Amino acid sequence: TYVVTDNCIKCKYMDCVEVCPVDCFYEGENMLVIHPDECIDCGVCEPECPAEAIAPDTGSGLESWLELNAKYAESW
Ligand code: SF4
Repeated sequence: TYVVTDNCIKCKYMDCVEVCPVDCFYEGENMLVIHPDECIDCGVCEPECPAEAIAPDTGSGLESWLELNAKYAESW
């Protein structure tokens, strides 16, 4: 899955939302989030984000962001 990270906070450009083929972006408290179970890993959103806030969940140190994405997305 892809995750939205700190660069998104108070940004909300929404470019990612428009390109996502499965509409798995949700509104978090002060940022957008990706639902980890709905994301199909297509990668389309990553280059579209002007804030470079989206990353694949393969790098290290993204565990807490993944948790936050899941928490906000699943509360919808
Ligand atoms: Fe949507 Fe694809 Fe980005 Fe996942 S990787 S959030 S499916 S655009």
